[in-house]
Amino acid sequence: MNTAEIKEMATKYIINTYGERELALVRGEGCYVWDADGKKYLDFLGGLAVNGLGHCHPNVVAAIREQAGKLLHVSNLYYIEPQAKLAKLLIDNCTMEQCFFCNSGAEANEAAIKLARKYTKEHVDENRHAIITMEDSFHGRTLATITATAQPKYHKGFEPMMPGFTYVPFDDLQAVEDTIDDNTCAILVEPIQSEGGVNVPSPGYLEGLRALCDENNLLLIFDEVQTAMGRLGAFFGYQSYGVEPDILTIAKSLGGGVPIGAMLTKSHIAESFGPGTHAATFGGNPLVTAAAVAAVTTILEENLSENATKMGEYLVDKLLALKDKFPEIIAGVRGRGLIVGLVLTIDGKPIATKCIENGLLTICTADHVLRFLPPLTINEGHINEAVAIVEKILSEC
Ligand code: PLP
Repeated sequence: MNTAEIKEMATKYIINTYGERELALVRGEGCYVWDADGKKYLDFLGGLAVNGLGHCHPNVVAAIREQAGKLLHVSNLYYIEPQAKLAKLLIDNCTMEQCFFCNSGAEANEAAIKLARKYTKEHVDENRHAIITMEDSFHGRTLATITATAQPKYHKGFEPMMPGFTYVPFDDLQAVEDTIDDNTCAILVEPIQSEGGVNVPSPGYLEGLRALCDENNLLLIFDEVQTAMGRLGAFFGYQSYGVEPDILTIAKSLGGGVPIGAMLTKSHIAESFGPGTHAATFGGNPLVTAAAVAAVTTILEENLSENATKMGEYLVDKLLALKDKFPEIIAGVRGRGLIVGLVLTIDGKPIATKCIENGLLTICTADHVLRFLPPLTINEGHINEAVAIVEKILSEC
């Protein structure tokens, strides 16, 4: 099928939650994808931080093929070998002690919200249930996670929201301190707000949240759905900041392209999730956990977090050079590792569209931030190619 045929069929039969889509992509290899008409694109969107290993990484493809020929799915009523291996691999590489597997970032955050409430009721105070989250955050699209997502545009039409969430401005410790009360049980935060505009917290902010949690007997939850798996320059984002949460959630690039999420925590907190308290039919099934074992092993063995740091710095330098060239159009460059935002003074949507027309996949977020989430496998050549496209477009503005 060509693009027009795919578009016609999709438009007719798929509910229009994603609006009109720009492309129909049919093939991917490394940092490149091809559309149904054969046009090639450099992928600096990376499946919105899913394609950390690029497209169709041979290790992940081989693991999926092998597992698909052995066992695709069994119930979580049984032990699952690749699931156990993946859990050990994750836990061996952080200070958390146990994990729960699910299918997505939103589900991982749902698990974290439920666990925080249950643990707090059992061990701290039966009345405490409220979670403080940050304005401009993004935590998912289920009812609890849109409520946690402190952006009114995601709530509109779905009210009433879930009770038990309070919002404060991001990067404002005083606001958090002023909001903590007898009902508060946890603070939920992204180590970098990606969807919210590539907002990087000030030095000391996450440390300050940790201290507030310790002083007030609260749980600190990091939503690492985008920031984990090497993207910030350490395997888990929290390791790059040196601030340890009590619960952390991951998804996106964990599976190398297959849908999987997880919530990790300490054993004494995990105990509140006893038998029958939480479950997911597909959570951590043999196919996705075999893929994730291959993805995680590859990220670790190829030291891709180090490449994320190096390439992130190279990308930022290149974009800063563009800023010198186009001071009226570029207001700034921000990010950490390979979550990088080019802050424009003009509407970013038409710029993102022109990038796509010119063979570069990227996205505009928060109206004027061009966001780059490339595979961690990129090299300087890929960055030069991407920046040259952006430069060409800005020079035509
Ligand atoms: N948390 C963060 C930080 C995200 O960026 C996202 C998705 O973009 C989610 C949660 C939700 O993940 P999912 O779409 O897999 O449910």
